[in-house]
Amino acid sequence: MSQCCVTSPTGAAPCCPMNGKPTKPVLRTTVEGLLKPEFKADVLPQSYYFCNAPDCDTVYVSEGEDHLVTKDMLIVRVGIKETEDPIPLCYCFDYLRENVREDIRLKNDTDIETIIRQRVKAKECWCEEANPSGTCCLGEVVKAIKLAKALKDQGRL
Ligand SMILES: [Zn+2]
Repeated sequence: MSQCCVTSPTGAAPCCPMNGKPTKPVLRTTVEGLLKPEFKADVLPQSYYFCNAPDCDTVYVSEGEDHLVTKDMLIVRVGIKETEDPIPLCYCFDYLRENVREDIRLKNDTDIETIIRQRVKAKECWCEEANPSGTCCLGEVVKAIKLAKALKDQGRL
């Protein structure tokens, strides 16, 4: 077990008990809002953390690691943990990976990043409630655009 799995007195984020990778803090309201109704009552009065590992089915870990939320307990698909379409990229404005790929396939470019940036600037985003990570999607969107362009260059899109 690596050092980061020991819950330190400074309250460092626990590692995901399923894969041992570090987690990131997430608001409990994010967890509650995205749980299917039948699982809402299970949320503990603790801090919650997000496992962003693509190969792990666990999405949230409670601070005491005694409550794990897996992706099948949520009302949304967790884009970074899915390999099959539909793969959500931007939860606030409903962009999927296939929307990015379609743009790149057809015109080798996409306005999606610009549109999201403008709408974020206009404070129309609601990532804390909409996105399972509780954070802005732009990092994932930028990654998806880069990957789509690389695939297109290789003739694989
Ligand atoms: Zn995990």
